[in-house]
Amino acid sequence: MSFQTLGLGPNILRAIEESGYSEPTPIQSAAIPVIIEGNDVTGIAQTGTGKTAAFTLPMLATLERLKNEGSRERKTRALVISPTRELVVQIHDNVKAYAKHLPLKVATVYGGVGEGPQKQALRNGVDLVIATPGRLMDLMDQGCSDFSGLEFLVLDEADRMLDMGFLPNIRRICKALPKKGRQTLLFSATLSREIEKLTHEFQY
Ligand code: AMP
Repeated sequence: MSFQTLGLGPNILRAIEESGYSEPTPIQSAAIPVIIEGNDVTGIAQTGTGKTAAFTLPMLATLERLKNEGSRERKTRALVISPTRELVVQIHDNVKAYAKHLPLKVATVYGGVGEGPQKQALRNGVDLVIATPGRLMDLMDQGCSDFSGLEFLVLDEADRMLDMGFLPNIRRICKALPKKGRQTLLFSATLSREIEKLTHEFQY
């Protein structure tokens, strides 16, 4: 399998090459084409398998493709929720590398630092938000975000978010998001009954 056959587009392929990846990992080969086709996906994969690229690459490719068709205004188009600040920063690093030839604005939202710059970034308008649940909910409650045009929701490390007690936050956040026209991706290291229930609750 090669990255060329997965439907990612030349700008992203160039960034992948610059990242030094020669071929997709198994989770990437399995997930990327299915996500590009517009499906909701539940991915069971541990850290270290390349799972971050498995959802960020096709998400970026889809955002690029739809933008090229000129069909959307500048509202937040994708939201990635992850349990910890460290993971948010890691995902952001991945996105920066893969989207370096795309004109996308990205913001990170997490606790333990001042809210000011994060609020300002959201108010200025960003295409993609990568966030932890607690701070994201605080900023949504303050009316800083506009998710009315959301095209992608990603729940990363869903099992860990459940273990950390984030389910009520995630439910509240999801209630405030549009349900139509949205693709929902859920990634988890383990598949449990709780994770299956989550997929039924949040994927449509
Ligand atoms: P993750 O499982 O998302 O935490 O990724 C683990 C590491 O694998 C990260 O440092 C990625 O940059 C790297 N990686 C992701 N996809 C590939 C690939 N196709 N080839 C080589 N390295 C990769």
